[in-house]
Amino acid sequence: MSLNILVLNAGSSSIKYQVFDMSTQQVLIKGLIDRIGEIGSTIPNHHAALEQIVAQLHQAHLPIQAIGHRAVHGGEAFHDAALITPDVMAAMRQMIPLAPLHNPANLEGIEVAQRLFPDLPQVAVFDTAFHQTMPPVAYRYAVPTALYEQHQVRRYGFHGTSHQYVAEQAAQYLQQPLHTLNLITLHLGNGCSATAIEQGKSIDTSMGLTPLEGLVMGTRCGDIDPALHFYLSRELNMSPQDLEALLNKQSGLKGICGVGDMREIQRLAAEGDENAQLAEALFAYRVKKYIGAYYAVLGTVDAIIFTGGIGENSPRIRALSCAKLQGLGIELDNEKNSLASKGISACHSANSRVKVLVIPTNEELAIARHTLKFL
Ligand code: ADP
Repeated sequence: MSLNILVLNAGSSSIKYQVFDMSTQQVLIKGLIDRIGEIGSTIPNHHAALEQIVAQLHQAHLPIQAIGHRAVHGGEAFHDAALITPDVMAAMRQMIPLAPLHNPANLEGIEVAQRLFPDLPQVAVFDTAFHQTMPPVAYRYAVPTALYEQHQVRRYGFHGTSHQYVAEQAAQYLQQPLHTLNLITLHLGNGCSATAIEQGKSIDTSMGLTPLEGLVMGTRCGDIDPALHFYLSRELNMSPQDLEALLNKQSGLKGICGVGDMREIQRLAAEGDENAQLAEALFAYRVKKYIGAYYAVLGTVDAIIFTGGIGENSPRIRALSCAKLQGLGIELDNEKNSLASKGISACHSANSRVKVLVIPTNEELAIARHTLKFL
């Protein structure tokens, strides 16, 4: 009998969906419904969007045995994926102040799916769960302890499903158990994060209380002096909302050169656009700094893994990020790096002590696999 799992990623105005046949791990159907609730859109709400997906499943005669939901913020409550119960949903609701855009959308997706598929097991897979193994030195900020104890102020990290997935893929590729490996995983997409993985467990990651900390991203600033906020509010009279929009939506690569898309930036940089050249260089420089930091945290590193749209597809970013790291035993092979293609590829030189791998991420498949564990 086939075992089909529907994976849902519900955002505030979109739902991405995929159906996997878990006996083969093949995708049977995938799609995106966007502009939900926007003016002029034919999809007024998440219920209507999910009904459209259900109609498509019926048309394709696809029975579904379980649903896996991408869930952004699980706080300290979830160290792993969870079978959805009223308690789980209450815990997700408690995290809304920390993820005011994402968690309500995730919850709405879950509520609608429960109404349409009341008999199916549903599983929440949290972006934060993999990072719950971080020790306090990595997850605490040096601010008053009461803010942690009373207001949940700490580093959580995100992209955990992706970091865990590529780490598992690396272990399989290297034919070594994951719990024996030290890895630095670099998820470089529109959002970007780096994770230090010791003996298979996340011990530090670059995103923090929110996904704004760490690496430079398409439109997010990453690490910054927090005093910038006071300066801008004093000098430009910016409100907290203005600052939030500035640092999340108008900064990062886009802030530096006006474009947030790396492929476009590389095209402009090749044509001589100096701001695009700076944006690309600054992006890779920050990645390199995190490689150095996590190398120091781990002591020994078996492999560095590049994933995400940029990590998988840009030999230049990989080369710039790993340049001059021979002293750390990290050395790329130019030809292997430029030839790295769709599947898993190794792009380190024969002399490199540390392996450098390109591994395509697949968060939807990872969610389906987590969901399968509950059946
Ligand atoms: P998301 O984080 O939204 O899932 P992706 O992981 O698809 O996004 O990453 C999108 C980024 O990957 C964009 O900046 C895009 O320009 C970049 N990208 C995709 N292909 C290439 C390529 N061939 N060279 C450089 N950058 C690329």
